[in-house]
Amino acid sequence: MGLFQKRRDAAYLQRLDTRGVFDNTTKNALPQTIIAKIVQNHFASPNGKTPKALLIGFDGARADSMHLLVKSEDEAVTGKLFTSAYSAVNTLKAEGGLYLSFAGGVPENPQETSTAQGWAAILTGVWGDDNGVKRHVPLKTDCPTVLRSLAENGKKAAFLAEWADHFTITYKEEIRMAEEKKLPLCFRKYADDAALAQAFSEHIAGDTDCIFGIFEAPDYNGHTTGFGARNYRYAAGVMHLDNLAYRLMEEVRARPTYEKEDWLVLIPSDHGGHGRRHGTQQMYDRMTFIACNQPIKG
Ligand SMILES: [Zn+2]
Repeated sequence: MGLFQKRRDAAYLQRLDTRGVFDNTTKNALPQTIIAKIVQNHFASPNGKTPKALLIGFDGARADSMHLLVKSEDEAVTGKLFTSAYSAVNTLKAEGGLYLSFAGGVPENPQETSTAQGWAAILTGVWGDDNGVKRHVPLKTDCPTVLRSLAENGKKAAFLAEWADHFTITYKEEIRMAEEKKLPLCFRKYADDAALAQAFSEHIAGDTDCIFGIFEAPDYNGHTTGFGARNYRYAAGVMHLDNLAYRLMEEVRARPTYEKEDWLVLIPSDHGGHGRRHGTQQMYDRMTFIACNQPIKG
């Protein structure tokens, strides 16, 4: 790695460590694989209420995009509406926490900071060497996603996304297995974020126990206009999704059975980005975030 890259990485990490935004630091950032374990634990140890989960994926949302939503304690400036009352991330941060996480494997055994690798690590709880998605190939059939594990235990789960490769490559075998075993696990593809939001609403109003979906605005805007919180087109995508996610959380709270249910709500991102791409081991690409309505112990 060149000296310039080292300096860029260090400066970015320092920016992420500005006080008051994240509830951990870049030094103890959580591996993205922790998410499958959090979901698994949530369903394995019910507290008397019915466990449920809502996972709202922000594809390609960089860690520093959280600075758009949460004002740091290091900023001396004052202004109006720095924090929205209709922000999913701020609501989750107040209830649980907002954490720095990382994609791209452990430094000793790196993997691509890309969509297929990222979501497969998030959903299986293990890195590519173990789940098979170190390259862009189907997930190993003996390495279930947390959605499939839940479905095998009688829970109803949904995987909602837009990118065709999820369905034709990464989860191809798992989709076949779910159909063969008649598991209560559905995989559905949608045309865009609006159609996906509608599908989320339908599952929230229905009886699905674990709803997982991936919104594409940050990744799409990053590839077309550049990744990074300082690009207003990229920023707009992240901020609109934050508001959309808040609306979905309100729909959860409006369920007639809400008081009898224990909802775990998570917003993860799969990778960051730099320029108009991602996939590398640069910190811009590796650093991600997890917002959760329960504190996460690393
Ligand atoms: Zn991408």
